[in-house]
Amino acid sequence: MSETKIPYKIYLTENEIPTAWYNLRADMKVKPAPLLNPGTGKPLTAEEMSGIFCEELVRQELDNDTAYYPIPEDIRNFYKMYRPSPLVRAYCLEEKLGTPAKIYYKFEGNNTSGSHKLNSAVAQAYYAKQQGLKGVTTETGAGQWGTALSMACSYFELDCKVFMVKVSYEQKPFRREVMRTYGASVTPSPSMETEIGKKILAEHPGTTGSLGCAISEAVEVAVTNPGYRYVLGSVLNQVLLHQSVIGLEAKAALDKYGIKPDVIIGCAGGGSNLGGLIAPFMGEKLRGEADYQIIAVEPASCPSFTRGKFAYDFCDTGMICPLAKMYTLGSSFIPSPNHAGGLRFHGMSTILSQLYHDGYMEARAAEQTAVFEAAETFARVEGILPAPESSHAIRAAIDEALKCKETGEEKTILFGLTGTGYFDLTAYQQFNDGVMTDYIPTDEDLAKGFAALPQVPGVE
Ligand SMILES: *Cc1c(COP(=O)(O)O)cnc(C)c1O
Repeated sequence: MSETKIPYKIYLTENEIPTAWYNLRADMKVKPAPLLNPGTGKPLTAEEMSGIFCEELVRQELDNDTAYYPIPEDIRNFYKMYRPSPLVRAYCLEEKLGTPAKIYYKFEGNNTSGSHKLNSAVAQAYYAKQQGLKGVTTETGAGQWGTALSMACSYFELDCKVFMVKVSYEQKPFRREVMRTYGASVTPSPSMETEIGKKILAEHPGTTGSLGCAISEAVEVAVTNPGYRYVLGSVLNQVLLHQSVIGLEAKAALDKYGIKPDVIIGCAGGGSNLGGLIAPFMGEKLRGEADYQIIAVEPASCPSFTRGKFAYDFCDTGMICPLAKMYTLGSSFIPSPNHAGGLRFHGMSTILSQLYHDGYMEARAAEQTAVFEAAETFARVEGILPAPESSHAIRAAIDEALKCKETGEEKTILFGLTGTGYFDLTAYQQFNDGVMTDYIPTDEDLAKGFAALPQVPGVE
């Protein structure tokens, strides 16, 4: 009776934007395995990495020990344009489901790029500028990362060259135009602009591309052009570090009302939003201060956690990138073309891979029609049109809430709503027309990817 009613939206003030990112690795007893040089099988040195990545980002990438990284003022000022992001109590969804569960979501779609990716894009562009670079290269799949990076680059006046997976380039012309509006150049990948692109096209004529191919192209351009470096929007430790702003804000908002989530859910492509959302909670779990059930949700058509192998693998199809020890389907794995729901990367963050391997979190796979059903339910009651990627988390949150309905448990569920789906209307159209299909790779399909896993000298 005297319980304070939790507002629909728990806002923080501008001053409550975190002043430091949290580096989850500092609290991990078993650290994620180091990136390896594919030639020697030895851990990559900062010097080797600095030809590809910006110097400060290399430092962040390799730092397993520093718990907090102060957020530079320029970055924090940029954050103020669209953060703090709201933490929403999903009262309408709870009512619709008739569940005793309490559902909260952290909404990261409140910026033009439409996703959480801007949190890391602005940091990476800032460090490139600090280093005096001319520009950066990258890949983009669905286009959110490319859009976020083009926004950040225009803010810091950097050149931005984006290789966009060909199927998305064709399906999402409007994404491309947003990027060009912010001054980026956008090339469909694989392209004839790089040696690796030509090679991939010769071997697989007519390929619709993959993130792995696009990464190879972007890296090649970065290392062959002076004053350019490559930046990546997910998977890497540095990206999870920047994305910790999501979890830190979510926790600060919940703490205001003394709310402790029981279940924390996020979709997982390369693992950056999930790693960011769970960071401070997982930190408590690792330090033995609290316990949370943490669930990663991935597409059944690209099931790195649930059906992948924990092994060293390339991050790209061209096999020019360093090797990372992660849950992977093999760098040659390309999700079936009917897959519309994003999250199509073959591997997973090394941090999350290690945590999953060590039993600190669980994972489940969702089929895309079930994901779009969840998206529809959510959109109709909560108003926001969710990104297909985010809708994987919605699916699991709804499933957990429905379980509570059966058991009568009043669990508190927190999930990451990573972005909006305005540029995913082709996929929504398929769903609305009833022609969306599910494809789950067979064990044979997956075996091909595993067979091509690299043999690393000195590593089992
Ligand atoms: C890129 C993206 C994802 C997946 O990337 P992660 O690195 O796994 O977070 C999820 N949701 C949206 C909206 C995205 O743009």
